[in-house]
Amino acid sequence: MDVTAPAHDRSMRTPTDAASRTGPVYLDLDTVLLAIHQGRRGPEIGVQADLEEAIERISEVADHIVVLVDPPPAEIHHGLETERRLEALREGLGEQFDRLLIVRCPHGEERTCTCAKPDNGLIQVSVEEYSLPQRGGWYVGADAEGIISGRSAGLRTIRLGPAGDDHLSAVHRPDYEARDLLDAANHIMLEDLS
Ligand SMILES: [Zn+2]
Repeated sequence: MDVTAPAHDRSMRTPTDAASRTGPVYLDLDTVLLAIHQGRRGPEIGVQADLEEAIERISEVADHIVVLVDPPPAEIHHGLETERRLEALREGLGEQFDRLLIVRCPHGEERTCTCAKPDNGLIQVSVEEYSLPQRGGWYVGADAEGIISGRSAGLRTIRLGPAGDDHLSAVHRPDYEARDLLDAANHIMLEDLS
């Protein structure tokens, strides 16, 4: 009898009964995973601190971790090209990068689509591309535009970090405010697995 699980089947590593899994968890690349600083010669891109434990924690409860890659700014030479941002993520995460579903705008450079925050086109693209369940998901981001995008897509929303000077109306207010991604991961566990 062959008892080895197929290498690609991650669900074999953890319990798969419905009560122990949550819906897809969507992470905003630019505000949650990357740390982007304005350097003297343009933006310097790295990853946020302590991502490894948080992503580990989320993958214990979610079958799908989706990274939403917003289209880069429209102006030329902004230094935030999609390939450059993804390369920074790949370097910063190492093997963990392979666990993530990377979703980027498939519509070209015309910018006539609704992928970018605060629209939620990128979430719809994710659902279609990976046949994700429409219900029970979470959006994690660190700005008001992201929260609007997640909420309008029917997701529960978590905002990282202080809201700062944002004037939050009810529509901008997340379901939960987290200190960091690990706190967000713990909240998702608490809400859906207890
Ligand atoms: Zn698009």
